Amino acid sequence: MEEDYPKNMLAMEQRFGTEADCRQYLVQLRWPHGFVCPACQGQAGWLDRRHRWTCKGCRQQTTVTAGTIFEGTHLPLQVWFRAAWLVTSQKSGASALGLQRVLGLGSYETAWSWLHKFRRAMVRPGRDRLQGTLEVDEAFIGGVNPKAKGRDGVDKALIVIAAEAAGQGIGRIRLGRVPDASSPSLHGFIQKTVTPGSTIHTDGWAPYQGLQKLGYGHTVTRLKGKGKTAAVELLPRVHRVAALLKRWLLGTHQGAVSPNHLDYYLDEFTFRFNRRHSASRGKLFFRLLEQAVQVEPVTYDQIVQGGSKHNP
Ligand SMILES: [Zn+2]
Repeated sequence: MEEDYPKNMLAMEQRFGTEADCRQYLVQLRWPHGFVCPACQGQAGWLDRRHRWTCKGCRQQTTVTAGTIFEGTHLPLQVWFRAAWLVTSQKSGASALGLQRVLGLGSYETAWSWLHKFRRAMVRPGRDRLQGTLEVDEAFIGGVNPKAKGRDGVDKALIVIAAEAAGQGIGRIRLGRVPDASSPSLHGFIQKTVTPGSTIHTDGWAPYQGLQKLGYGHTVTRLKGKGKTAAVELLPRVHRVAALLKRWLLGTHQGAVSPNHLDYYLDEFTFRFNRRHSASRGKLFFRLLEQAVQVEPVTYDQIVQGGSKHNP
């Protein structure tokens, strides 16, 4: 589908003034080349007055929201669209409390679960891996135990950050939680997120060794002192990303992110960061809804349990 999205809030309000407007937009996003039966992939079907499609081949009935994050919702799509606009139009996103207040949602849990549903739509299935010259390093997130510092920390979640170099600045990033800072964990993250042939810049942490065997270039810079300043200068891009991530978790989400759900917050941060130069916020709105009709539905209970997608 051609990238067709509202450029600002007024345009969004005018464009999506009715349920039919919203439904039509989702149809365009989900079936840009016409209806496709989710059961048999048949391309012939008809639409009835209750917005149900019937497949001509297998007679299965479906709706444009069935099998997407909107499945089973009791609230109008208009409210969902406004939630998507709030999530994408603000630089730091929306908190559950903010969303609940602005949209007048009946419960905090609804707002909270909607944000989690959107987060699941922020990662494009089969997205490209990073490439070129990158910095990779680990960081600890969350937790307030002052003793839990460094690579042996137990009270915090360990994440790995990969950041592409774009001139003096930062290109795209990927973030991932790892169980520890061992070779299998670090190499596994890199293989999942970086295209072989790229050059990876790390500090002297021994478990990074062996990247050449996996097809990567590897530049190592060893820290002379143990000071924080030295580390920031050594790998400035990943440290900048880590600082922004921590500020976002503490600011927008007031540090209230449980380790169970951290993966999804990392996805949201990455979604925003990689589109930070996008000329129009409307484009993020478009991407979010485009991906929202492509990911599987998830229930409130599944969200609460956190069921990490990385360790199902
Ligand atoms: Zn069918």
